[in-house]
Amino acid sequence: MNKLLFFILFPLFLSAQNGLFEHKEKFTRQDSLRGSISPEREWWDLKHYELSVEVFPKTKTIKGSNTICFEVLKSAKKMQIDLQEPLQITKITHKNKNLKHTREGNVYWIHFSENLSINSEEKITIYYEGKPIESKNPPWSGGITWRKDNKGNDFIASSNQGIGASIWWPNKDHGYDEPENGIDMHVTVPEHLTDVSNGRLINTVHNKKEKTKTFHWRVTNPINNYGVNINIGNYTHFSEIYKGEKGNLDCNYWVLTHNLEKAKKQFKQATMTLEAFEHWFGPYPFYEDSYKLVEAPYLGMEHQSSVTYGNKYKNGYLGNDLSGTGIGLKFDFIIVHESGHEWFANNITNIDVADMWIHESFTAYSESLFIDYHFSTKEAEDYVIGTRKSIKNDKPLIGVYNVNNEGSGDMYYKGANMLHTLRQIINDDDKWRTILRELNTTFYHQQVSSQQIENYIIKHTNINLKAYFNQYLRTIKIPVLEYQITKNKLSFKFTNTVKNFNIPVKIWVNKKAVWIEASNSSKEITLENNINTVEIDKNFFIKHKKI
Ligand SMILES: [Zn+2]
Repeated sequence: MNKLLFFILFPLFLSAQNGLFEHKEKFTRQDSLRGSISPEREWWDLKHYELSVEVFPKTKTIKGSNTICFEVLKSAKKMQIDLQEPLQITKITHKNKNLKHTREGNVYWIHFSENLSINSEEKITIYYEGKPIESKNPPWSGGITWRKDNKGNDFIASSNQGIGASIWWPNKDHGYDEPENGIDMHVTVPEHLTDVSNGRLINTVHNKKEKTKTFHWRVTNPINNYGVNINIGNYTHFSEIYKGEKGNLDCNYWVLTHNLEKAKKQFKQATMTLEAFEHWFGPYPFYEDSYKLVEAPYLGMEHQSSVTYGNKYKNGYLGNDLSGTGIGLKFDFIIVHESGHEWFANNITNIDVADMWIHESFTAYSESLFIDYHFSTKEAEDYVIGTRKSIKNDKPLIGVYNVNNEGSGDMYYKGANMLHTLRQIINDDDKWRTILRELNTTFYHQQVSSQQIENYIIKHTNINLKAYFNQYLRTIKIPVLEYQITKNKLSFKFTNTVKNFNIPVKIWVNKKAVWIEASNSSKEITLENNINTVEIDKNFFIKHKKI
């Protein structure tokens, strides 16, 4: 998702901070239970979820069950499951027996009668019900959105990035573990409505007596919790085949019936997006589960193989250009950005949400790569440079680990500019593209840390970028290139940096490109002629100061 507009409208983080990992937030035991790999989570490995849920629009309530298959990694008998208040678990069964459970806020402790044996595969079913939290500002505040479309039909959707999927269904609500064999979802809705969820539609059952329909959706690949979603409305459907790098990719589009014609035009950008991103990032990571765009009653979200769309069938971000250059109006921001997340968020997922820059920085930069592929490199540069105006430098991109804490909203455009600068440093677009593609094969369907991504890039560029990543990810300092001209001599050094910050920088001396190796210690180059003008290449996200 893109939180930019949200940050502009609701500036949450006001205090500027310096130094590595300085955060002022206070955290509670509930934050630690939610955000850490607790001993009660660590001993079992998710294999599969089977989620059945009935949705009652009239009372804004839900009722259902989740059958969790897991492998026992360590012998244990106490398990953590998350389900947020006010929803309630009514019963938990294991091998036809009821299990004891106790509640601590949003966590349920499940007590097996004896230790489960190591390596065994087990199954529990959790029954739950209640009135889930209603989202006040989807997708930024999580919960269920109960709206009507402009024809008066129910238009309902879940969204839960950040707050967590346990806001509407019971699960292991932490990014480190994904069900290897995916999820089956059985969503029951009033018979005149349609549910669209992740993956492929297996079947629809009409429960005539109950006047409901049950839609069975299946995801066969691992999926992150926050990607699981329901969308319920008066939908119609069209589809096409995209001939991609891994063969035929089914693309399905679910939109409100009265928006069909608009969607048929606007969604032509979907395969353009897939083409650009397969070029830069490699094959779409979920061919088995298909690709979908699903109209939703809010702006959009990267739900895996079910990208939700609410950008009003306009180009830009609700018709606005976030870069201020005009280039942002050449494409539909939500189709491009949210589809970009299929590679960075859904394929490569952060283990801890503190490292969410992995999702948002690469995806914000994917907007520029889309422009590069379909329009020009020059416009791609202007776009990403244009987005610098929204950078706040309020706190570091990396948040606090183990307490479900995201870093700064700068993870979007400061992150994109950090990656754009890195591309300049590498100065070889074939190599840059290879790295982006190989990240997606090396970490295919994995949950990773920032450190793993940084180490991979350092190894494959053979450039010591340790201080570079520390600077941009872990501090709010923007490096300043100080320089001094004396006749034909240029002396320069970086200030406002972490220790050992050191990168090659392209500068323009008398309008000619010159590369300098700048670091914290003063260096000097001598040219044949007197120096009249020095400009720092605009693609580098650094500041400069003439002394
Ligand atoms: Zn995003």
